[in-house]
Amino acid sequence: MTSVNLLVIGGGPAGLSAAAMFSRLRRSCLIYDSGSYRNATTLHSHTISGYEGVDPAIYRQTLRGQLKDWYSEKTEWRKGKIVSLLKVEGGEGGFEAIDEEGREIKAKKVILATGVKDRLPDIPGMAEQWGRRVIHCIFCHGTETAKHPFAFLYTKANAPMNAKMVEKMLTMWTGLDHEPRYILANGIDVDTEEGRKDAGFEKYHDLVQQKGYKYITSAITSVKEDISISTSALEITFGTTHPPISVHSMLVFPEKITPSTDAEPLLTENFLQAPLGAMGIIAPPKPGRWEGTGVPFRIGDDPRTEVRGLFWAGNSGCATGNVTVSVAQGQLAGAMAGDELGHDELMSDIHANHNGVQ
Ligand SMILES: Cc1cc2nc3c(=O)[nH]c(=O)nc-3n(C[C@H](O)[C@H](O)[C@H](O)COP(=O)(O)OP(=O)(O)OC[C@H]3O[C@@H](n4cnc5c(N)ncnc54)[C@H](O)[C@@H]3O)c2cc1C
Repeated sequence: MTSVNLLVIGGGPAGLSAAAMFSRLRRSCLIYDSGSYRNATTLHSHTISGYEGVDPAIYRQTLRGQLKDWYSEKTEWRKGKIVSLLKVEGGEGGFEAIDEEGREIKAKKVILATGVKDRLPDIPGMAEQWGRRVIHCIFCHGTETAKHPFAFLYTKANAPMNAKMVEKMLTMWTGLDHEPRYILANGIDVDTEEGRKDAGFEKYHDLVQQKGYKYITSAITSVKEDISISTSALEITFGTTHPPISVHSMLVFPEKITPSTDAEPLLTENFLQAPLGAMGIIAPPKPGRWEGTGVPFRIGDDPRTEVRGLFWAGNSGCATGNVTVSVAQGQLAGAMAGDELGHDELMSDIHANHNGVQ
């Protein structure tokens, strides 16, 4: 049995920065990381302050190295998965966790920095290209596609999201001067009112055509990287209904975002004392839920949960956060976990003194 003040589950940017912040207090900290990072397939990251264009694996390696160099006296990093996590009722409280090798951990505080999983449209080749030529974000890798042929994909499963995505296409992406620029409706017939609604083009059907976007409504049968031409490109095929097209990249919004695979069994409503929110995220506590310790006003979202002593950081509680945001959330969670730990100890000292115990 290992006993620590803080257990951090997940060693992506959020978990590593949470551990670094907490380690400043010289209290014991253990990080577990099963290593299925959300941006694992990506070779270049952008908007990470000070690390523009760097491989995200190098960035994580740097954070891990710095944790080891500076804080290894009290902080330990373990490669592995936590398979069970329970709140201890009564006694000293805290949490009990078990890793996949059956090792037991007792922790006074826990930070869930477990990330999320993007569920993509079921199109052959899509998963292989995710984070490379199938992209989801202008800030992460959109800018590099400027002035090239480009496709925006809208699927029926994304009908509730599509109108918003169309608007983003028109407000955020126009400076990239893609030529040609395709709208792929993947089997949705945008010539009907219902089809335009599903694809999100109710409002902008005429405008996008005036602006030079080309609709292709045929269902996609495959995407694959075409390296036969001088600049490698993404080839998109439509069976026999439309000739293939070749683009630099394609924008896709995941059809579903869920907790990461390794975290899903841990994040039950029973354990969290609250259902997961939209995009599978851990919900913050209800306003006024906790007294005594508190978030400094306007620093960021409350990293606590409905369960005292349990915190979230990064995508597990904010699926749209990028690396820098996740790092900031990790720092806040690490600081607040430390503050709450100290607060518990102070209350216990005061209580012991009242009872005449030295
Ligand atoms: C394709 C793609 C490209 C991106 N590019 C960029 C970019 O260029 N710039 C940018 O700022 N952001 C980018 N992002 C967003 C970025 O990936 C996230 O902001 C970031 O990964 C969030 O960090 P995190 O620590 O919350 O989660 P993650 O990095 O996903 O880390 C979570 C970790 O927790 C582990 N874990 C889960 N459950 C358990 C368990 N039970 N036990 C132990 N470990 C567990 C997972 O295995 C994983 O290692 C991109 C996202 C995608 C999808």
